[in-house]
Amino acid sequence: MGKPTGFLEYARCENRRRPPLERVKDWEDLYLPVEGTSRQEQGARCMNCGVPFCQAGVQFEGRQLGCPLHNLIPEWNDMLMDGNYGHALARLLKTNNFPEFTGRVCPAFCEQACSCGLYDAPVTVHDNERSIIEYAFSNGMMKPRYTLNSSGKNVAVIGSGPAGLAVADQLNHRGHSVTVVEKQGRIGGILAYGIPNMKLPKTVVQRRVELMTDEGVSFVTGLDASDPAVAGRLSREYDAVVLCCGAEEPRSVGVETEGVQGVYYAMDYLHASVDRQQFGIRSEIPDAGGKHVIVIGTGNTASDCVATAIRQGCTDICQLVRRGRGDYLDSRGELPQDYAQEEAAALFGRDPRLFGQSVARLETDEAGSLCAVTTKSGETLPCELLIAATGFAGCREDVCAAFGVERNRTVVTAAGHYQTSVPHIFTAGDMHRGQSLVVHAIAEGRAAAIEVDRFLMGYTNLI
Ligand SMILES: Cc1cc2nc3c(=O)[nH]c(=O)nc-3n(C[C@H](O)[C@H](O)[C@H](O)COP(=O)(O)OP(=O)(O)OC[C@H]3O[C@@H](n4cnc5c(N)ncnc54)[C@H](O)[C@@H]3O)c2cc1C
Ligand code: SF4
Repeated sequence: MGKPTGFLEYARCENRRRPPLERVKDWEDLYLPVEGTSRQEQGARCMNCGVPFCQAGVQFEGRQLGCPLHNLIPEWNDMLMDGNYGHALARLLKTNNFPEFTGRVCPAFCEQACSCGLYDAPVTVHDNERSIIEYAFSNGMMKPRYTLNSSGKNVAVIGSGPAGLAVADQLNHRGHSVTVVEKQGRIGGILAYGIPNMKLPKTVVQRRVELMTDEGVSFVTGLDASDPAVAGRLSREYDAVVLCCGAEEPRSVGVETEGVQGVYYAMDYLHASVDRQQFGIRSEIPDAGGKHVIVIGTGNTASDCVATAIRQGCTDICQLVRRGRGDYLDSRGELPQDYAQEEAAALFGRDPRLFGQSVARLETDEAGSLCAVTTKSGETLPCELLIAATGFAGCREDVCAAFGVERNRTVVTAAGHYQTSVPHIFTAGDMHRGQSLVVHAIAEGRAAAIEVDRFLMGYTNLI
């Protein structure tokens, strides 16, 4: 077991964010990782308690308790303490296909459930996870794993976000021939086009795609499976199809935007930014440089828009949050700031959030370009770029219709299952559970792979 007195001897030490005024000048990683002996000490803080709630992964009264992937946290913390990265990696990869994603963007339900956190600060599980996988990539431990026996079955996975990648990885290692079909030019879904580089470097996504390609997964980009001819062919030619197309249908902005220039949905804005900044691709969607920017909404997507607009050189930024400030206070009565709000506060001298505010009217000039936003409280704020991070209403209808599967905002399956109304078609991720998180998408992908494997083989040895 871990060091029984570790949590008494060592204080929690998280990966530090770079200073806000320094990091807003670039698109590089937000964090400076803690490594070496200090990381071993962080592993040693794990008490290896009798009932490790951190890995329970259950829903209780609508809340997620512990890691949805049931990561074997106390085990790999113990190995980390000993500096035994090889064993730690083996245990980590048993339950998580992509720790390099979760170790960067997961909200760490494990830490909220850590016993150490009852009286003091929880173990740095999230950062420890990142440390193990990054050590493995940097030290040649992430070699392709080839599957020797082929099942003779083929599977098409539609959509290459974390859910699709997890399904593909699981079924490929099981011996099925897997093709991932993606309508965009790059693989990764929101990992590639939504979450900005400073939170999840695109090289990290690409590194994984290359490893999976070496291991035998085929990737086809630029193919839209909502085309009925494409869907029909995939449905006929593959023994099973898994739909992992995300929850792409945006919620409405809430006011009439027809004919107004300067209003964009968050995903379109972020996608254009990644294209421009990472891949040098021009876009019709303007950047925020020299503009007063307003972001509607809160949460991950809104924060990523705020941080992106700041890096593009906006003149000013506000975030309109519908609910009151009191709804966001922590147990100490303080208002937590995430990385984007921290950056806005450092740059403009105030938290960007205006609570209890929403848009009543858009003001335009003679050319129809947005110049101001009037809020429901009657305040008029200058604004040349309005970004709606208003959430997602579910998956798109067209791809469901093309495959003939039942949809009710998301794809319909029996509760806790992944098989759709068409027997050889399955679904996973946001397309199935609605707008969610990377860790849930990976968990869904793994669970769907079990059902697909059983459907194809009559039994499964996937876990
Ligand atoms: C801006 C933003 C920031 C986020 N930040 C975080 C975060 O910090 N932490 C976190 O845990 N979660 C975050 N999330 C949520 C998380 O990214 C999603 O829950 C997760 O990506 C869902 O995975 P998925 O595989 O189900 O779908 P997606 O990642 O949405 O992938 C779906 C894929 O399917 C493709 N596709 C769709 N239709 C078709 C078609 N017809 N043919 C072929 N391909 C198709 C899409 O192009 C896309 O590549 C964020 C979400 C957004 C929007
Ligand atoms: S995937 Fe998320 S919840 Fe699970 S161990 Fe990692 S950080 Fe914690």
